Amino acid sequence: MTDCLFCRFVSRDLEPAVVAETDLSLAFRDINPQAPTHVLVIPKRHVATGRELAAYPLEVADVVALAGTVAEAEGLVDGYRMVFNTGGDAGQTVFHAHLHLLGGRAMTWPPG
Ligand code: AMP
Ligand code: ZN
Repeated sequence: MTDCLFCRFVSRDLEPAVVAETDLSLAFRDINPQAPTHVLVIPKRHVATGRELAAYPLEVADVVALAGTVAEAEGLVDGYRMVFNTGGDAGQTVFHAHLHLLGGRAMTWPPG
């Protein structure tokens, strides 16, 4: 059994709060939301970071497209943020690549 948390979500060994899914990607609610909508969109393929995901253009496109679909479904008409925290300085804590979809409130820039 893998010790990667998000791979265990993909296999449904553990069940996250799924909001949408494609053949290549899974979207589920962040357990510690930082905005009214905070959804993580992951490739089903295990890669550690957004940088490594770049080797798989179909998955990149699918993750970004699914995030857009979820944003529309969540009614984020005033905008939203898509973020890949990549590496320690960015605060990445789970090393299975994931896109944060954040919306439902005004956000500041630059981020902390
Ligand atoms: P990052 O810091 O960019 O690696 O983001 C990892 C995200 O995973 C954080 O926002 C966590 O709140 C989220 N997270 C950790 N464990 C879980 C879980 N069991 N279910 C859903 N989200 C989780
Ligand atoms: Zn994984």
